[in-house]
Amino acid sequence: MSFIPVAAPVIGEREIAYVTDAIHSGWVSSMGPYIGRFEGEFARYVGVSHAITVSNGTVGLYLALHSLGIGPGDEVLVPDLTFVATAHAVLQVGATPVFVDVEPDTWCIDPLAAERAITPRTRAIIPVHLYGHPADMNAILNLAHQHDLLVVEDAAEAHGAEVNQQRVGSLGKVGVFSFYGNKIMTTGEGGMLTTNDVDLAQRMRFLKDHGMSPARRYYHAELSFNFRMTNLQAALGLAQLEQIEGFIARKRDIYGWYADALSQIPCLQMPVSRPGVRNVFWLFSIVLGQSCRLSRTDFGLALQEHEIDWRPFFVPMHQLPHLSKFRMVGRDGESCPVSERLGGRGLNLPSGCALDEPTVRRIADTVARLACTGDR
Ligand SMILES: *Cc1c(COP(=O)(O)O)cnc(C)c1O
Repeated sequence: MSFIPVAAPVIGEREIAYVTDAIHSGWVSSMGPYIGRFEGEFARYVGVSHAITVSNGTVGLYLALHSLGIGPGDEVLVPDLTFVATAHAVLQVGATPVFVDVEPDTWCIDPLAAERAITPRTRAIIPVHLYGHPADMNAILNLAHQHDLLVVEDAAEAHGAEVNQQRVGSLGKVGVFSFYGNKIMTTGEGGMLTTNDVDLAQRMRFLKDHGMSPARRYYHAELSFNFRMTNLQAALGLAQLEQIEGFIARKRDIYGWYADALSQIPCLQMPVSRPGVRNVFWLFSIVLGQSCRLSRTDFGLALQEHEIDWRPFFVPMHQLPHLSKFRMVGRDGESCPVSERLGGRGLNLPSGCALDEPTVRRIADTVARLACTGDR
């Protein structure tokens, strides 16, 4: 048996054909027809009127916040359990992150804790659809409405996930997607911003491309950026997007194969799908309960001995040295006990779309044995 990675991309003949076509066309930078086609198809897929390519998800988050005018003096609510880019984007625009505890079942930002974290300075909230499960957008949109907050969806891990049949990235003011190599679909590096707000879309397009006046070439009236995607990446992205429903179907199958073997094991917490939600199961994940015989470290070592790759859950933001000075808020006060438990006990297991059923069932059997007996 060879090493089984956590999330290898699936890239085939369609990708090769489109990228080859882009190379032959000579349009290798950020002009060229694949950019517009990819943006148009992605907007249609998400169900928004505008989609804007960017170089990666991290600058996408930055550009969204910056374009919304969020900056020094503003507080932004960020889940304590997320990839660090969510918090970094807030800091990079000069705003202050406030770390909010997550829900024990969905692992996404807890709306009750978020409500407690609101102050007169709170301007925005960034729900992260962690590992493919949408955050509780009904509650978050209500909260945002009551307190006049901007909602920036970090949908980097949840392409195609839905709440009440609406796709994530279409629910807040702006959605941010990543196309890093391990995400649900990839462009190598890349990202996309989605919005129904025409003015915001225009502003993000303007700022990502050196802020050049549409009317006068080389006339730049404000500090701006180069956050463009290339036509080559967009060609890869379009080919991937045309297959995304197949990728998601496979992710959901992988969840089902794992669940067959693991859902009855009392010491393992499984991913949930809340009613009305489409979970796209970006990474199949488990959380080790108190009664589990192995620590996460030993669990991971045992998986490695079986050549099964794994990842620990993200380290909670408040535990990172440069972020520990910021306020954190849970349901019961200034702490994030749920995120701490999950961050210390959660594991992501192999979830790439190239995995077949026998392989997943074999991994699941190994995980079940480790969890039940501790026998490596
Ligand atoms: C991957 C990811 C990002 C950043 O995307 P990049 O394209 O790698 O910059 C942001 N937020 C979350 C939650 C992510 O998982």
